[in-house]
Amino acid sequence: MVRLRPHHLLCMLTFVGEGYSPAFVANYRRLAGRLSAGEPIEIVSGPDDICAPLLSDEDAHCFGASVMGRDAAALADVARLLGRRLEVGSVIASDPALFRRLRRAFSLGTTRRACTGCEWESLCDRIAGAGYQGALVGRRELNPPETAPGISARPRA
Ligand code: SF4
Repeated sequence: MVRLRPHHLLCMLTFVGEGYSPAFVANYRRLAGRLSAGEPIEIVSGPDDICAPLLSDEDAHCFGASVMGRDAAALADVARLLGRRLEVGSVIASDPALFRRLRRAFSLGTTRRACTGCEWESLCDRIAGAGYQGALVGRRELNPPETAPGISARPRA
């Protein structure tokens, strides 16, 4: 089971293999592989498996109120999209159909209230606009190269 906080249901869609630190990226890549292989997602509250390598940092933002607000918005938006109740402890099957559905909604902007004010919003816009080329979660359905041409990946949540 991959433990994800709700707004990472969005962030995972545009992860292209870069991040805060080598340890953060290595961990995220492993998680992307597990998700792509169909490992289910468990919704958790607060820091999750993606956050884990950051938690020893004194200034880790993972507990911040703004991040919790992103979680609440993403949980509501994704629940509406999937037409089911979602709460902490809910399990979501991870498969190509889920990633397609989430990406379609992300591109339409119908699940992106959580992104409001996020410093990486323009980067995620660009990756979505490029058809998610280079995105690592669910990559077998996307046949992307490792990193999309023209996309400069930067640290992001
Ligand atoms: S804009 Fe921010 S919150 Fe939204 S998907 Fe990108 S990194 Fe995540």
